[in-house]
Amino acid sequence: MATTMTNYAAEREGMVERQLRRRGITEKRILDAFRAVPREAFIGAGYAHLAYGDHPLPIEANQTISQPYIVALMIQAAAIKPGDTVLEVGSGSGYAAAVISRIAARVIGIERQHDLVEVARERLRRLGHDNVEIIEGDGTKGCREHAPFDAILAAASGSHVPRPLVEQLAPRGRIVMPVGEPGWVQELIKVTKNEGGTLVQEGLGEVRFVPLIGEEGWKNAH
Ligand code: SAM
Repeated sequence: MATTMTNYAAEREGMVERQLRRRGITEKRILDAFRAVPREAFIGAGYAHLAYGDHPLPIEANQTISQPYIVALMIQAAAIKPGDTVLEVGSGSGYAAAVISRIAARVIGIERQHDLVEVARERLRRLGHDNVEIIEGDGTKGCREHAPFDAILAAASGSHVPRPLVEQLAPRGRIVMPVGEPGWVQELIKVTKNEGGTLVQEGLGEVRFVPLIGEEGWKNAH
């Protein structure tokens, strides 16, 4: 009897074409990074067959892996390029950190949930992403020992842009993060630090993220 095997490589290529390129993600290095990372490896076995759907999916610790297009949009908005050191706050499954690591020189991911730190580390090690380090802790405080960062992405929605993230941003650095109340739509914003240290903020549209919980985020009530 014939068995049905998911052709992940074909689904991955379809995702890159339909969900990313046709929606305006045109930079070759971003598209190639998505082509190189097996999303199914960052999702529990029960959902792996849905890995290339155009939506977020549940992961361990009651969290989510973001929709591929939103990850791509954030990477593009943050203008991540070769040579950059990048901080990802809320590294969750490790997928976005893996994609970013195919473009940037070094990625530091911070995650507050211990179980996710463990699984992400194991996946990244197994897949050979040795320019990524996952740290357990409150990402609203950034990661002073690895600063400054050329780009900072937050995969959870804050009440405001945490001051430590601004302080740890290099001159000409970019922060891309959602800001707004959990449980409803939030605004994805980009903050650029000019050479002289002044900040420029722009809105990139509406998104839906889980809450950024921490000292400079929402308190644990959510
Ligand atoms: N980028 C992730 C991926 O590729 O799977 C998506 C992760 S999910 C949308 C957001 C994550 O942010 C959750 O895993 C959550 O535990 C984490 N988080 C929330 N507040 C945090 C904080 N203050 N510091 C670190 N992680 C945080």
